[in-house]
Amino acid sequence: AAKDAGRDQFHLHTLALDEAIQTEVAIHGMVKQALHENRLVLHYQPIVSSAGTVLGVEALIRLNHPEKGLLAPAAFFSALDHPRLARPIGRFVLIEALRQGAIWQEKGLSLLVSLNISTRHLLDARFLEDLQEALARHPGLRPEQIEIEITESAPLHDLPRAQAILNNCHRLGVRIAIDDFGTGNASLTYLQQLPSDTIKIDQSFVRDIIDDPKDLAIVTAVITANRMLGLKVIAEGVEMAEHADLLTKMGCSHLQGYLFSRPIPAEDIPAWIARFRPAPKLGAALPPMDI
Ligand code: C2E
Ligand code: MG
Ligand code: MG
Ligand code: MG
Repeated sequence: AAKDAGRDQFHLHTLALDEAIQTEVAIHGMVKQALHENRLVLHYQPIVSSAGTVLGVEALIRLNHPEKGLLAPAAFFSALDHPRLARPIGRFVLIEALRQGAIWQEKGLSLLVSLNISTRHLLDARFLEDLQEALARHPGLRPEQIEIEITESAPLHDLPRAQAILNNCHRLGVRIAIDDFGTGNASLTYLQQLPSDTIKIDQSFVRDIIDDPKDLAIVTAVITANRMLGLKVIAEGVEMAEHADLLTKMGCSHLQGYLFSRPIPAEDIPAWIARFRPAPKLGAALPPMDI
């Protein structure tokens, strides 16, 4: 009987596994089709400085599904790092974000355009080519206006290689950000080894700074260390004015979150910027910083 039970369990287990694999296959098929049918879309979320100016925007991918409407990346996360999909997705993001940045630039809106690159695409032998191709298409946009976000939450299997590639990107003038800072276990290694200009403090730390003295201490240390290194510090997931005030007082140079804006379609960005008025308190406590 024990043997039977074991077999049943094994059977259940393979069923669950089957289902998981089928889900993955369906997701990858959906993304592949969306790529073919030009249904991948970028929305943009403003990033503001503590002094109350707009620094730029982060491009965030969405999938326009024929029945379900606009899907957030959570619905197709595994595709972003898939061996055959990571590069086509990354190329779409590079070309589309730079195209959009060039349009804003032409309108006189000089923004820093930040984009997320999967570690798989970054480590692809053709990544630098892909980046240069996108830059060459839009000569009106300076490389300094582009920031590549590398997430710390997905391990970089080959750090020396990532370092070499990012050094080449940096030489072109493109900026490098470490995204989701603090969520992996390589934060300090990344800071030391990668040519980073910016770190983005993950929203999981930002969320609790008001109630949790531990999180407040961690975020304070992160801000201080990175300011000493001359890096730009962006706090992600800023939802409440209290967060913005506290982060600003702690010396955080930039803020991003629903308090200011959700990610929105490209065509809504100019109007959002024109309307943006920083809260009066924002910037008041911060000593000026030249970044
Ligand atoms: P991320 O790069 O850390 O982006 C920040 C995420 O937090 C975005 O979710 C954004 O919409 C969300 N967010 C911004 N402000 C707030 C806030 O105040 N509160 C809360 N609760 N959330 C906020 P989104 O757009 O769903 O993207 C999730 C993740 O998917 C991104 O995290 C990034 O890792 C990945 N991703 C997004 N676009 C791309 C892309 O084009 N390529 C790749 N490879 N990954 C992408
Ligand atoms: Mg990001
Ligand atoms: Mg992040
Ligand atoms: Mg994140």
